Amino acid sequence: MTVTTVELESRPARVPDGTAAADLLATDLHALRVIAERATSSDVNRALHARRRNLADFAVLLSDAAADRLEDIAAAAQATTIRRFGRTVRLFAPLYLSNECVSTCTYCGFSAGNDIVRRTLSIDEVVVEARALRARGFRHVLLVAGEHARIVSKDYLVECVRALAPEIPSISVEVQVWDTDTYRRLVDAGCEGLVVYQETYDQETYSAVHLKGKKRNYDWRLAALDRGAEAGMRRLGLGALLGLHPDWRLDALAVAAHARFLMRRWWRCEVSASLPRLRPAAGGFEPHDPISDRAFVQLLCALRLFLPDLGLSLSTRESPELRDALLRLGVTQMSAGSHTEPGGYAEASEAEPQFQISDTRSPEEVAASLQAAGYDPVWMDTIGPRRSRL
Ligand code: SF4
Repeated sequence: MTVTTVELESRPARVPDGTAAADLLATDLHALRVIAERATSSDVNRALHARRRNLADFAVLLSDAAADRLEDIAAAAQATTIRRFGRTVRLFAPLYLSNECVSTCTYCGFSAGNDIVRRTLSIDEVVVEARALRARGFRHVLLVAGEHARIVSKDYLVECVRALAPEIPSISVEVQVWDTDTYRRLVDAGCEGLVVYQETYDQETYSAVHLKGKKRNYDWRLAALDRGAEAGMRRLGLGALLGLHPDWRLDALAVAAHARFLMRRWWRCEVSASLPRLRPAAGGFEPHDPISDRAFVQLLCALRLFLPDLGLSLSTRESPELRDALLRLGVTQMSAGSHTEPGGYAEASEAEPQFQISDTRSPEEVAASLQAAGYDPVWMDTIGPRRSRL
């Protein structure tokens, strides 16, 4: 397969042709949603036993009819996960660089209008934080920051990656979206992963929750993972925040479709997805109860069955009990011992966290819990060639 070159350095109004983003926009998600609505028990039976599953099968597995077969779906998801990934879970930690932000997003504690304690780590402080994480075992760190192009500039991010690269073998970034050249600079400095959540794939909801700032540009964000892959990022992470759009199935369908298109177009990359459920945040944001625990389990199992090679990441937003249960069903990556404020690993920090976490166990406790369940915590792994092309 020839990978199409993405020529996107300015910010055109639409996504470029030949990208996973364009593939997604050409997909009729509402038709898939109707399939989920109308699925019968015989549709579920067929989807469950299919050798290869398509998006329509995934829609069927999200249905109410499939909820009645959750035990069968979970057993199939568990067997698939063990076959593809073994009994291993990759552990990583978010390292918050800055909570400065000029954007206004209704659901986020860092939102520009929130009167919170702001802090941006110096390069030296970033290194101290990373060393504290390294001392706890982590070899994979996700650098996270709010959107402030002057304070959290391209140069600052490149410097952070360059300073950490000799000590941290696997560095990913989850920061404001950039152009291909900037991603190339980050890759050259030692960054191998890019995480960009679309937050919600529903364009109307997206406009309603992103009130000010560059993040309002839906298409520019949607094509960011294509730009990162074009620049040489080897790990791509995508996701949606469950609880922004009232219909969780629509965002789940979009994440699944986007993941599949990324895996097809950028088949040398390792693609992973995450579907965090929203938590309370500074500014008074209180999420609706977006999806029950049981439906959340069904969603993760359906994703595993649809895309057996997809990494599934679970954050500390979920409770310890649910995280322990989900690791058997398809989860392949977990954050652990997380702080969502800049600083906080090496010593206590006054800065405001982005959201409250549910699983407050230490990395050692999470690792011990994994081992007790018969799983190996993996602190560092290398990227090999993908096992199969879709
Ligand atoms: S979601 Fe990102 S861009 Fe929006 S307020 Fe939070 S940090 Fe800023």
